[in-house]
Amino acid sequence: MDRVTAVDPLRTAEIIAVGSELLGATRLDTNSLFLSGRLASLGIELRAKSVVGDDRGMLAVVFSQALARADLVLLTGGLGPTDDDVTREVVAGVLGLPFTEDPAIVATIERRFARRRMRMPENNRRQAQVPRGALVLDNPNGTAPGLYIAHDAKVVVLLPGPPRELQPMMARLCESLLGARAGGERSYTTSAFVTGRSESHVEEAIQPIYSRWYDATPPIQTTILAAPGQIEIHLTLRSADPGAARARLDEARDAIAAALGDAVFSTDGRFLEEVVGDLLKARGLTMAAAESCTGGLLLSRVTDVPGSSAYVRGGVVAYSNDLKTAFVDVPADVIAQQGAVSEPVASAMASGARTRLGADIGVGITGIAGPDGGTPEKPVGTVAIAVAGPGGAEQVRTFSFPGGRAQVKYQSAQAALDMVRRGILNGDW
Ligand code: ATP
Repeated sequence: MDRVTAVDPLRTAEIIAVGSELLGATRLDTNSLFLSGRLASLGIELRAKSVVGDDRGMLAVVFSQALARADLVLLTGGLGPTDDDVTREVVAGVLGLPFTEDPAIVATIERRFARRRMRMPENNRRQAQVPRGALVLDNPNGTAPGLYIAHDAKVVVLLPGPPRELQPMMARLCESLLGARAGGERSYTTSAFVTGRSESHVEEAIQPIYSRWYDATPPIQTTILAAPGQIEIHLTLRSADPGAARARLDEARDAIAAALGDAVFSTDGRFLEEVVGDLLKARGLTMAAAESCTGGLLLSRVTDVPGSSAYVRGGVVAYSNDLKTAFVDVPADVIAQQGAVSEPVASAMASGARTRLGADIGVGITGIAGPDGGTPEKPVGTVAIAVAGPGGAEQVRTFSFPGGRAQVKYQSAQAALDMVRRGILNGDW
C-alpha cells in the first residue's frame, strides 16, 4: 500500500547573509532585502535576519539557532572555491550530512573555464561538494551552484552571494520547490503614492478607514512610509484566494485614494516622473525646463523614463544669474529687483524655457538648497517654482522645504512635477 506523507507547509523563515565584507563599513547586505520580498509573496513570515562573517564557529552557532526557530533557513554567500568560503561546510556539519563530489558540477565548472580558454583550478572542486540528499540548483550566471536541503520537516537553502546569481536562482525556486512547500496562503499587496501632503495629514485622513481593517477577516495591514516629497501607503493581506484578495485590496486602496483626492498620484507603483510622462504623452504635450537649484535633477528624472523623448524637449541648467538671462531671457532688472529666488524670476524662467526650447509646457525652478545662502526673509529651503503653458496659462508657487541640500533638490523636482501633473488634470495646459 502506498503511504502518502503530508508535509507541513513552510510558515516561518530566517535569512543569514555570510561574508566578512558585509560586517565592514563599505558593503551592504542587499540580498536579504530581495529575499524578504520573495518570502512575503510566498506568504512565508520572515522572523529574523543575521549577517555573519566568514567564521566557521560563529556561523555554526547562528545557523543552529535559526534552524531551531524557523521552518526555512536561507543562507547567502560563502559558496565560493576558497578557504574562507565556509557556508557549505558549516551547514553540512551542523546537519550531520557527509559530502560527495558531484561529477556533473565539476564538468559544468570545467566547461565555464574552458569557454574562457582556462583550466579549472583544483580549488573549484570544493564547489562540487554536495551534502548527501541535497538538490543542486543550477547557476547559469556563476560557478557556485546553490543547494536545496530538505531536512526533517525543515528546508535549508544555500544561495550564491552575487545578486545577479542569487536573484534568478531564488525566482526559479519560488516557482518550483519553495512555491510547492509554501502552503496555500500567499501575501498580496497594493499601494497608493501621495505627494504634497505631510505624513501626519495623510495619517489623519486615512486612519479612520484603515483602522476598520484590523479586525476584518482576513485583516489588511497598512504601512505608511514617508520620504522627502513622497508618502507611500502599502496595503497587505494574506489569503488563499487570489481573486478575492485582489478584489478586497482594490476596494481598500480605492477608499484610501478617495479620502486623499488628487494628492494620490499613483495607485499602480509608478513614480511621479512616470505618471507625468504618461499624462504628457496621452495629451500630446511636450515639456522643457530651466533649472537653477535642482541642477538638472528634474530633467534627469523625467528622462530616466524609457520613451521620454516623445515628450521631453530638453532643458537648461541656468545656475548663475547671467545665464538665466542669456539662456532663457530672464530680464536682468527683474533679478536685480526681486532677487534670483523669487516668483517673478521662476515665471520668467518657465516662459523662457517654453519659448526658447519650443515646448508646450515650460518649468522654472529657482531656490536656496543650502546649507549657505539663506536670509531671514528667504531661509534655506525656499524655492520658487513656475509652470507656463500655452496661451499664457501659468502657475507659480513658493515652497519652504525641510532637510539638507539633497532633500531640498529632490522635493523641488517633485513639486515641479506635481504642478505639471495637476495642471494637466485640471485642463490648465
Ligand atoms: P561566488 O563564488 O560566485 O563569488 P559566493 O557565494 O562565494 O559566490 P561571496 O564570495 O560570498 O559569494 O560574495 C561574492 C560577492 O557577492 C561579494 O563581493 C558581494 O559583492 C556580493 N554579495 C555577497 N553577499 C551579498 C549580500 N548579502 N548582499 C549583497 N551582495 C552580496
